[in-house]
Amino acid sequence: MACDVLVVGSANADLVVPAERRPGPGETVLGGDTVVSPGGKGANTAVAAARLGAEVALLGAVGEDSYGDLLLDSLRDAGVRTDLVRRVARPTGIAYITVTPDGENSILVSPGANTALEPSVVDSALDGAKVVVASMEIPLATVERTVAVAAEQGVCSLLNLSPVAAVSPATLAALDVLLVNEHEAAWLLGDGVPPERLLDLGPSAAVVTLGARGALVITGDGTTEVAAPKVTPVDTTGAGDGFTGALAAAIAEGKHLETAARRAAQVAAISVTRPGAQPSYPTAAEVAGS
Ligand code: ATP
Repeated sequence: MACDVLVVGSANADLVVPAERRPGPGETVLGGDTVVSPGGKGANTAVAAARLGAEVALLGAVGEDSYGDLLLDSLRDAGVRTDLVRRVARPTGIAYITVTPDGENSILVSPGANTALEPSVVDSALDGAKVVVASMEIPLATVERTVAVAAEQGVCSLLNLSPVAAVSPATLAALDVLLVNEHEAAWLLGDGVPPERLLDLGPSAAVVTLGARGALVITGDGTTEVAAPKVTPVDTTGAGDGFTGALAAAIAEGKHLETAARRAAQVAAISVTRPGAQPSYPTAAEVAGS
């Protein structure tokens, strides 16, 4: 079954606990009430793209537990196809998130079922997809296989390299679009190295997100700055995933990369004005009216 956007990535339950401060080694701190919400970079990206009207499937894995149900329900509510989400005999991935009054997050991820997403699952999954998005928090070999199979099949590939990791030179060389934030770009290139040098690593194009300053689109023709709409942020959780999903949806519609990045910046700006990750992503109508 064909889809516009296939996302290969993680699905996690986010367990968010507010606390006055985070516990040190050997210490117990009492926090506030836990809020459980659907998350994970792959699931967030898929939901963001689907809200905009793209036909989206997630290739992922969750456990046979209630968090797995929560994630599947959220994906289906957004219109994401879930027939490629496997249920495995491992606990669903969980992100334990402590939020302190200064707005800082500390996050411990237990990948659980996401680690069961082995490379072979990718081989027959890309059929008919216009754009494939790989995100991290799943086995690196699966990310690398996704990009390799996309290149073999002539499918446009986008890698959101977050959290940043040492992917193989062959993977970077096979990529159409490498998407990183400025910290990840500095990890890949070294501090102070111009972001244009990302193309030397092999991808055809790169997009560097800069938080409230927007993004850079880097292609063989040069670098374009994409401004972020001015908004008052309420919660920036999942802004990068929202940007990624919107970028993929626009590329699947046939938009030029720069136009796609402008749309993605509009989507991400709306998302930071609303709480949460998946619930904050706008529909196409909301973006048009913004
Ligand atoms: P996160 O880890 O929070 O998901 P990230 O570090 O991957 O985010 P950022 O560069 O912080 O990515 O943000 C992604 C995009 O979201 C930015 O390129 C921008 O378009 C949008 N964005 C983030 N923060 C703001 C803001 N304060 N105002 C407007 N847009 C924002």
